[in-house]
Amino acid sequence: MNSTTTLSVFDGHNDVLLSIYLPKNGRTLSFFDRNDHGHIDWPRMREGGLAGGFFAVFVPSPSSSDKHPGAAPDAENTAYELPMPASVDQTYAREITIKGMASLFRLASQSDGQIRVVRSAHEFDTCFQQGILAAVLHFEGAEAIDPGLDALYVFYQAGLRSLGPAWSRANAFAEGVPFKFPHSPDTGPGLSEAGRELVKACNQLGIMLDLSHINEKGFWDIANLTEAPLVVTHAGAWELCRSTRNLTDKQLDAIGESKGVVGVNFHVAFLRADGRLDPETPLTEIVRHIDYIADRIGIDHVALGSDFDGATMPLELGDASGVPKLLARLQEHGYDDESLRKLAHENWIRLLGQTWKE
Ligand SMILES: [Zn+2]
Repeated sequence: MNSTTTLSVFDGHNDVLLSIYLPKNGRTLSFFDRNDHGHIDWPRMREGGLAGGFFAVFVPSPSSSDKHPGAAPDAENTAYELPMPASVDQTYAREITIKGMASLFRLASQSDGQIRVVRSAHEFDTCFQQGILAAVLHFEGAEAIDPGLDALYVFYQAGLRSLGPAWSRANAFAEGVPFKFPHSPDTGPGLSEAGRELVKACNQLGIMLDLSHINEKGFWDIANLTEAPLVVTHAGAWELCRSTRNLTDKQLDAIGESKGVVGVNFHVAFLRADGRLDPETPLTEIVRHIDYIADRIGIDHVALGSDFDGATMPLELGDASGVPKLLARLQEHGYDDESLRKLAHENWIRLLGQTWKE
């Protein structure tokens, strides 16, 4: 046993709620029991040392709930270009979003006090110290919010503390990147006027803005406008894997300069240099992205952003219970205890303390 087996991990992104509020094939994930499908549930989170994370509410296109539709299927030619998913209707998005939020609040209320939806840095600290799972309510895409922002204020009161203005499609505020490889993240227009107002309102309320999925013009529009550190909860380094979903050196530098955080995504197609959707991807591919980002902008600005239940994990990791294997690999690779604590949770705790207003 080494020290990494007891290290608490706060994770930048999971999609576990989706399988609860929109069960696939009518099969609802029972979060409190150990499941043989998906990557994350209560027993596996505990086994993996997960002390909390961003729980995403995502609105799939009405015809599909697949978040990472079959990237790079061809072994000989790994280039791919998937069409931009269609925009979704606001009324539909709001209906699904309320289901998603309710699924998280129900988990907390059924947990005997073991899970809390955290709304302030103080509450976050308390959970962390007492071993209560700290769940941050995150929206992956702002489709459920009206351009006049009435819903933003209501969702904030309900517990929304993290918002990605766009998933990989266009909405009233911003546009995300379509899944392409190899391709730059500069794929379309930046923020709309409503998008600029959304950024200002999030700053004022203290909602963390997550720049995952947004295209490069939108990224720079937000970087120039926001008063908060820049955050990308689940992505990798574009120099190592030239997916539209990854971050260029210039983007990484801006995140470092703003004292922000990048959560490294475990999705194999965003890790591998060849962009292939191949689960036979070694854990060292995650280490490679962490190394690259830490070398470039400093260990204070790198964290984990698994994408559990929303992506294809390296087989060697498996699921949430495999996180200690990744930490052990990082330790073998030369990361000391202080660096591992930063990666595992301290950077997220600092960032939320700087960004939230409560
Ligand atoms: Zn995502």
